[in-house]
Amino acid sequence: MLGRIHSLESFGTVDGPGIRFVVFLQGCPLRCLYCHNPDTWDPKQSGKYLLSPEELLAEVLRYKSFIAKGGVTVSGGEPLLQPEFLLEFFSLCKESGIHTALDTSGAIASQVVRKVFDSVDLVLLDVKSIDARQHEKLTGARIDNTLQCLHYLEEKNRPTWIRHVIVPGWTDDDQLLKRTADYLAPYRCVEKVELLPYHDMGARKYEQLGMEYRLGNTPPLSRERLENARNIFKNAGLLVS
Ligand code: SF4
Repeated sequence: MLGRIHSLESFGTVDGPGIRFVVFLQGCPLRCLYCHNPDTWDPKQSGKYLLSPEELLAEVLRYKSFIAKGGVTVSGGEPLLQPEFLLEFFSLCKESGIHTALDTSGAIASQVVRKVFDSVDLVLLDVKSIDARQHEKLTGARIDNTLQCLHYLEEKNRPTWIRHVIVPGWTDDDQLLKRTADYLAPYRCVEKVELLPYHDMGARKYEQLGMEYRLGNTPPLSRERLENARNIFKNAGLLVS
């Protein structure tokens, strides 16, 4: 079994606890308007690397001392498009005593995906918008699978961090922020929420790829509005970072 890997990052500091080896898998069924990595979308592209789980682990082990207090995060694209590969890789990491995290939009809900959730130490679940209509407009996909994934994580009490991008004109709306916070607050599996300010640094990549960047007129989120969102989530009883 070979994993289609878009790229590797050996010293990630923003995708889970501690310093992490981050694996970006190729392929994504979503089309988020603010996506920074449209070059990961096509699942048929082989990506930069084509590696077996054992080969990928060997690469990770080269950095074992650096990531001792962190671990490995698999991101994308959407890693759940390659669930069998994830199962095998996470099991090898566990045998080597390496903490594992999965960064996913939860766009795929299936039996094998549930097994992946059972096998990983931490899930970073990207909730793009809690409003079903807006979610579809923002990502091109329905929110149902993401919510199903969240329900499963709750049922199994799997450690989960929520990631939510605040986009001016979209998710940066007090009522919607409160609705999102109120929706998430009762979930015991949610250890914390990471609120990420929208910025337009991905726009250049679209230019290079000859693609249209559809949020071209959207300004970056201001510090004040980020602080406002943080307060709304904190007031709902959530731990925010
Ligand atoms: S889920 Fe991630 S990789 Fe996929 S389109 Fe959205 S931002 Fe891009």
